[in-house]
Amino acid sequence: MSLSLYNTLTRRKEAFQPLDPSHVRMYVCGPTVYDYAHIGNARPVVVFDVLYRLLKWHHRDAKVTYVRNITDVDDKIIAAARALNEPIESITLRYSEAYWDDMRALGALAPDVQPRATLHISEMIDLIGRLIDKGHASAADGHVLFHVPSMPDYGCLSGRNRDEQIAGARVEVAPYKRDAADFVLWKSAADGDPGWDSPWGRGRPGWHVECSAMSARHLGESFDIHGGGIDLIFPHHENEIAQSVCGFGTPTFARYWVHNGYVVVNGEKMSKSLGNYTTVHDLLEEFPGWGEAVRLVLLGAQYRQPLDFTRDKLREAKTQLDRLYGALRHAGDGEPASWDPAESVIAALDDDLNTPRALAELHDLAGALNKAGSATERARLKGMLAGAGDVLGILQADPEAWLQGGADVGSGPSGAEIEDLITARTDARKRRDFSEADRIRSELASQGIVLEDGPGGTSWRRAG
Ligand SMILES: [Zn+2]
Repeated sequence: MSLSLYNTLTRRKEAFQPLDPSHVRMYVCGPTVYDYAHIGNARPVVVFDVLYRLLKWHHRDAKVTYVRNITDVDDKIIAAARALNEPIESITLRYSEAYWDDMRALGALAPDVQPRATLHISEMIDLIGRLIDKGHASAADGHVLFHVPSMPDYGCLSGRNRDEQIAGARVEVAPYKRDAADFVLWKSAADGDPGWDSPWGRGRPGWHVECSAMSARHLGESFDIHGGGIDLIFPHHENEIAQSVCGFGTPTFARYWVHNGYVVVNGEKMSKSLGNYTTVHDLLEEFPGWGEAVRLVLLGAQYRQPLDFTRDKLREAKTQLDRLYGALRHAGDGEPASWDPAESVIAALDDDLNTPRALAELHDLAGALNKAGSATERARLKGMLAGAGDVLGILQADPEAWLQGGADVGSGPSGAEIEDLITARTDARKRRDFSEADRIRSELASQGIVLEDGPGGTSWRRAG
């Protein structure tokens, strides 16, 4: 029994073997924090959370390190700060906290390291310096560009030929390019924009170099798995490979490149630019306490396939969870001899994370549990079902509490705690601190508490 993953680099499914059996290392590109994450942004979080949990299961005697970065300096963040007339740090703090809250509500474990780009500028400057020294990059007028023809096998990940590389390269900084495919490592900062001193003048890093520098800092120059959405294959991941391989002089950067497919809406990619997106934040306000059901929808398709997200699917996922929790409740309080996950579920996940098959196996287990004749057999199946649910990041709530209406009821706030928060929110509104008031509302919403403002004050209910 061993894990196989489809490797974008070799275009085939391969048995996973860590470079260092005592330390499994995975890097996944994280969010640029200037707005709420939408369901399309949440898919890689949930997919790689399942992979992380599966790696921890298989390599339970080893260390597993999962790194997911935070991009907190970027043109879009600067534009948002201007539009809102708000300091950059306050925007990136607000949205990184919202991101963590939303992803926690979807049952995602926190990665072991969540490095922020702005705290790794010196590593980026160091890497850019190495690239210049080795003749892979050059500086002009405060800009530093990677020179693509200096790397013979540039394009190995995406399989793009030169014309396609040029078509996909950004046109910015065109005057500084020696070659049309060259890309930015460092750009000079305009007055008033965030910038750091560097050997090439005051400026800020390009996006691609952030991930090369932060992965090397926290995982080493070569590591096992690099993940992200398929839209990152080119140019972002192609450029990460170029920077890391050329800068550090290692033959291999990441060994397994794993990419998830798009979330689609009516056949079109969900994206901020198309405006066809639903944020996790809004969805959890609409369906408080349903984070686990959202997660189940995201696991309903194999990760490389497109996934159509609809509210009907969300309601269907909630019904499925009710059935699975119903089986766990039916099992009673008998303590299983083992909480090890069912082998059939692990086998499905080992096959390139075949989550639809894993979920079908869960339902078979639940069916067997409901029919089981003895308490011992029910306890045994309960252990296998809950253990498998743990690897999938579901079924960890108290079944009774779940079935009484709401995933978070068991661990949710008490009535007194809710009343205290409502008082704090009312006070915040009185002093016109609406962001604090909004934060409290969101905090309660994420725990399944819906507030209703009326002429007599604010009332609340638990959503079910
Ligand atoms: Zn990245």
